[in-house]
Amino acid sequence: MNINNVLNHLATFNELGYNPDNGGINRIAFSHPERMAALKFSMLCQRAGLDVYFDFIGNVIARREGKYPDLKPVVIGSHIDTVKDGGQYDGLLGVIGALEVVEYLNKHHIETDHPLIIIAFACEESARFNEATIGSKYLTGQYNRTSLKDIVDNDGYVLYDIVQPLSQEVRGQTALFERNQIKAFLELHIEQGPILENNNDDIGIVTHIAAPHRFKVTVQGVTSHSGSTPMPMRTDALTAASEMILKIEQLAQQYTNEGIVATVGYVDVYPNTMNSIPGEVSFLIDIRGKDEAIREDVVQQILNSIDQISTQRHTHCKITDLGNEHPAKLNAEMAKITENVCKQHGFEYKYMYSGAGHDAMNFASIVPTSMIFIPCKDGISHSPLESVTTAQIAKGVQTLIDTTLELTHKTTTLEDFDNQVI
Ligand SMILES: [Zn+2]
Repeated sequence: MNINNVLNHLATFNELGYNPDNGGINRIAFSHPERMAALKFSMLCQRAGLDVYFDFIGNVIARREGKYPDLKPVVIGSHIDTVKDGGQYDGLLGVIGALEVVEYLNKHHIETDHPLIIIAFACEESARFNEATIGSKYLTGQYNRTSLKDIVDNDGYVLYDIVQPLSQEVRGQTALFERNQIKAFLELHIEQGPILENNNDDIGIVTHIAAPHRFKVTVQGVTSHSGSTPMPMRTDALTAASEMILKIEQLAQQYTNEGIVATVGYVDVYPNTMNSIPGEVSFLIDIRGKDEAIREDVVQQILNSIDQISTQRHTHCKITDLGNEHPAKLNAEMAKITENVCKQHGFEYKYMYSGAGHDAMNFASIVPTSMIFIPCKDGISHSPLESVTTAQIAKGVQTLIDTTLELTHKTTTLEDFDNQVI
């Protein structure tokens, strides 16, 4: 593996969308820097001898032929977009890592049995359209062209109208694949959390990807004068909401070992003035877990507690379900291959779940899917402070190369895959 090659690619891609004021990266979905990065990736793929295809939504799909072209391809990749003032590694690491796999194979004149496809996904971040992993949802058939007409960005632009004129419909000869005709999908990504760093581990082998269930709660009290309303005669929506929020935290803490996290990250107080008792409060709850049954059990307890607190405090409460997603279970045989790679190289590894969503989760229910994490400094991501050491990058890319190589062998079979939706 050529670590300088990887570092150079990371640096040149991160010139696209770089904000000199704070060091953040701004490759927002379908912005000029983001599309430039996609084009640059496609040109590097062509230079590496790959057959390149831009699909309708702007995913870049590039195929390196195998010894047996009829065998199902092994697919690796990640996303090329970022959040506003994001970091240098979230997404891009997995894209550049995938390119390095190809460059490694080329340099060593390795002809793999299975074809290899590398992908730079479009629009993984929810920053623009309030919806995550749109590129991989399109590629895996959860969205079609028509459904893109219903997705609107923060300024009112419709996704279909944005991608339709951009769509180059550059059809490679072989790069397009049937979504369920894939041998395996593998993604390298930074952890975006503190677990690996705290354990001094080099590699995280992901077993599950957690998914959220979200709610909006509106608590109705009575707005009145803060000076002339005695304490026993108040119906304060904010103190009621505060009790609810603390209860949500307490319930989630009871299920820490089951991987449950619950967050209230948005609160809107009316009238939000110093001398009025708050009459209405709205807040948003984000509840995540890797096990859907346990998550839904906690959701029920949270909803019951909110009702109970609202009754005790004589407020009225309206709860709106904002929707939920299914957690994904990743492939155990692929994890075992990565574990063996780590053992061979003496890398410290840890089996773990991902609290954040990734493109990989959209593949997990249709093909054997796995993820490799590397630690990032203080677990910080979606920030200009996102930081990864060169040694960690090298270990991550090496693990990606060796796991991919093993997967491309005809003799490596993944037999226990059986539609792993949980
Ligand atoms: Zn990401």
